[in-house]
Order: sequence, then C-alpha cells, then structure tokens
Amino acid sequence: MPHNRPTLGQEEENMAINVLQSGWLAQGTAVERFENDMCDFLGLPQGSAVAVSSGTAALYLALVALEAKGTNIAFPAYSCSALRNATALAGGNPLLIDSRMDSPNMNIETIDHATNIAIIPHMYGLPQDFSKHPCKIRVIEDCAQALGASVNKTPVGLQGDAGVFSFYATKLITSGGQGGMVVSKDAAMIEALKDYRLFDRRSDAKIRFNFQMTDLQAAIGSAQLRQFSKFLKRRAEIFQQYQEANFPLLDASAGVQPVRFRAILRTTKQEDIIAALARHNVSAGVPLQDWELLGPKELYPAAYYWTQNTVSLPIYPSLTDEEVNLIINIVGNVL
Ligand SMILES: *Cc1c(COP(=O)(O)O)cnc(C)c1O
Repeated sequence: MPHNRPTLGQEEENMAINVLQSGWLAQGTAVERFENDMCDFLGLPQGSAVAVSSGTAALYLALVALEAKGTNIAFPAYSCSALRNATALAGGNPLLIDSRMDSPNMNIETIDHATNIAIIPHMYGLPQDFSKHPCKIRVIEDCAQALGASVNKTPVGLQGDAGVFSFYATKLITSGGQGGMVVSKDAAMIEALKDYRLFDRRSDAKIRFNFQMTDLQAAIGSAQLRQFSKFLKRRAEIFQQYQEANFPLLDASAGVQPVRFRAILRTTKQEDIIAALARHNVSAGVPLQDWELLGPKELYPAAYYWTQNTVSLPIYPSLTDEEVNLIINIVGNVL
C-alpha cells in the first residue's frame, strides 16, 4: 500500500483525449478554462488566476510580481525547499521562522517589522489565520497542501496578496504530474504575472522565462477539480476513522476549516510505527526529516521537534475501508 496514490479515471482520460484531438496543445482554451474553474471554486472573479508549470514557479512568479529582489522574505524552516529556492531565485534575503510547539505551522508571532514579504504555508491541510497580524507585510499564501481549506469562511489563497497552489502528483489534485497556479484579488498583480508568462515575441528586453502550463495538464486539472468535493469527502471519512481509533492526530486550531491532505500522528514512537506498517507492506513515513529543514536544527527547536515526533499515514480517496482497518489495527497495536 503506497503512502500516496493519485485518483485518476475516465474523466481525466476523456478531457486529455479532447485536447489531443483538438490539435491545440499550448496556452489554449483548456488553460484558460482551468484558471477560471479555479476562480469559480475559490469564489474569485474569472481572470484572477494564472496557471504555470509548478508550485515552485508559482511561488517564484508571485515573488517577482511583489518586487521581492533585495527585500527580506520570511518563511518557515519547517517547509518545502521550494520556498528557499524561489526566494533565492527572486533575489530575496531569507528570514527563517521556527514552527509553533502546538502546530507544525510557522509561528507568525515571531515575524517582525524587518520583514517585507512573508510566505505562509498551510502545512498538511491545516490552515493558518494571519488576519490579526500587527505588521504591515505583504503575504504570499502557500496553499500547495491546503486547496479547499478556509479561515473564517475565506478560502485559503485569498487572505494575502497572492495565493499559490501546486498540482504535483501527490497533492490534493494533480494536473497530470506537475503544475501550479497563482491567484490574486489584485488586478495589477495578475497583469504582472501574465506579462511575465508571455515571454515570446516581445519588443522590450525584459528578462522572462517559460513557466507555462500545457493544455493537456490543464484539462486533467479541470477534471480533477470537478471531482474534488468527492475526493475531500472520502479523505474526511478516512480521517474520522483514524480519529475514532483515538489516534493522536494533528488537527486544525479553532476557527479554521482544514482539509484532510495528511493524517499526521504526533508520537514518540516514530520508528516503531513505520517499521510495523512496513512489515505489512504499508508505506508510512516521516513527513519532513531533520536533514530537510531549511536551517540548522539548533536554531529551530520546534521545527526539529516536529521532524522527530511525527508519522504520516496513508490517506487518499482510493484507499479502501479494508486498507484503513489494517492501518488502524497495526498502528493501534504499537500505540
Ligand atoms: C509541493 C509544495 C511546493 C512546491 O510545489 P511544486 O509543484 O512541487 O513545485 C511548495 N510549497 C509546499 C508547502 C508544498 O507542499
């Protein structure tokens, strides 16, 4: 049993075949349609989304659009290396932030006035509310793990200056393996992103790069989004079964609405649980290892703590009740 498995079927096949038969593969109607499908899903006016080739590209372009070069950019030590890479490529100065002890999300209370831009991920589908933050900072919400979550009824992606999404194979939905999107309520920001994306046949000498999504990817993304509420429902059912087995799962703080992207145990028995599951060919793992932290572990004790005290269990729509019960029995025995 893999730790993760994308949910792909007839809808994805049909949409992909339509694109192939149309003969139009790049920056065509399927890309625009996926962008507008995302706008509809998030309750944004159409035209407020820009599809790109990956979540990393989305982060980088959002930083470029916020004129990040030479500015101070805060992001968590406990997160995907994409944040460090995008910051460096955009010419920003990284300011690493530790996690909280009650949540693997970054401790936004330690962000101060030295920060110009903060990249705030919602780890494992658990959204972070930063609406009451006292500092005047620009915010990029990293929603790669939290599509469909919300804070006080506002969908994640709309709280800050820009929201970025990833449609990599293991995320909540995929656009056929790779893909990303930036959304924003700010029309000037969308304009800047689209200007960057359109790199060919330009009369100015501005440096741009090709970060475009293909129509084949976009068509698969739209097919996934159409089934997304069904996917989320099944994920929530599995999460609830783990909860009913009294598993010590990480959960969202009050007032925010999570999505069940990951089922993360908070446990000191990391090795034992992973080994017991492996004996039954169930793949579970440490969601983020200490050597993956974006700064030295001595400086980020909470981040280090989360690398040592978490196990990620399988949770995805195609997991059967039988498979869930097997996991519950094995993990229950160790706990
Ligand atoms: C996956 C992920 C990214 C990067 O997205 P890609 O599409 O893989 O480039 C960025 N941030 C977070 C929190 C992620 O989980």
